[in-house]
Amino acid sequence: MDGMRIVVLTGGIGGARFLLGVRAYARAIGAEVTAVVNVGDDLYLHGLKVCPDLDSVMYTLGGGADPERGWGRVAESWTVREELAAYGAEPAWFGLGDRDLATHLVRTTRITAGYPLHQVTAALATRWEPGVRLLPATDDRLETHAVVDLDGRQRAIHFQEWWIRHRAEIPTHRFVFVGAEDAKPAPGVTEAITEADLVLLAPSNPVVSIAPILAVPGLRDAVTAGKAPVVGVSPIIGAAPVRGMADRCLNVLGIECSAAGVGGLYGGRASGGLLDGWLVAEEDAATVVPEVRVHAAPLRMTDEAATTAMVHAAVGLM
Ligand code: GDP
Ligand code: CA
Repeated sequence: MDGMRIVVLTGGIGGARFLLGVRAYARAIGAEVTAVVNVGDDLYLHGLKVCPDLDSVMYTLGGGADPERGWGRVAESWTVREELAAYGAEPAWFGLGDRDLATHLVRTTRITAGYPLHQVTAALATRWEPGVRLLPATDDRLETHAVVDLDGRQRAIHFQEWWIRHRAEIPTHRFVFVGAEDAKPAPGVTEAITEADLVLLAPSNPVVSIAPILAVPGLRDAVTAGKAPVVGVSPIIGAAPVRGMADRCLNVLGIECSAAGVGGLYGGRASGGLLDGWLVAEEDAATVVPEVRVHAAPLRMTDEAATTAMVHAAVGLM
């Protein structure tokens, strides 16, 4: 469909890989892509604003990501981290590479000068030319925290501390999107969703990548009330996430780690949920989500061609 407008709601690594396929699909048919990216993982480290999901998407689409590690820059070096460790500077658990740090320095300088995150993101993207429009879900502070039992008491800790430092292995009660009630969609986000011909939910973590985007007041309504069909792609194949620890996040919500579990969490649009279509892996072909069209296809994003084929299958569910 020439001139088709596609919006993708996305987290970091899984979403970034998926976007490689969406971009290839879009280039072939002359479609426009807007990625609405989770900011719930963002944090300040050593005085610098770090946006892990925006950077994963920007580096991956810009050809600058480390394909092995999955996050951060290719050909990275770690001199600054070693020097920080020599000072005993905390936190030491977050990996900040030297090349990556340049991004955070440029971003922080501009944020400090008063530019909103969406403008700073666009400025950073002029270097990387990601080929899709990158928009943070919000310019405002919205941080995912985990409410946990730690040191004998209940506390809320930043998602990154929960995920990286504690490996999601401590007793966890729930997640909170701090600041969400007062957050506004970044300029362009609501318009992009409203004017879209198709909204895709990337195979990102439903609990801590997609949910914080939809927690920005107005965004969930824009998706559910929009004219565009909404098609989700399962991040779970069989009973496990393809990579990472999404199962631990689903556990906290008491949701089964399966394509059916995540499909049920999103729910069908006809019953107040999000989905018109749900793309699952071939091994999950028997998945049923009430009032949702379910289709099975190979869902392993092994290379761009495989991922583009996945996107074709998702578009087929429109
Ligand atoms: P994060 O923000 O960096 O954690 O990345 P996302 O939330 O965007 O994506 C994480 C999810 O991507 C995980 O739950 C994985 O299961 C999923 N994922 C990673 N690789 C693949 C793949 O090849 N196929 C599918 N279907 N899902 C994948
Ligand atoms: Ca993330």
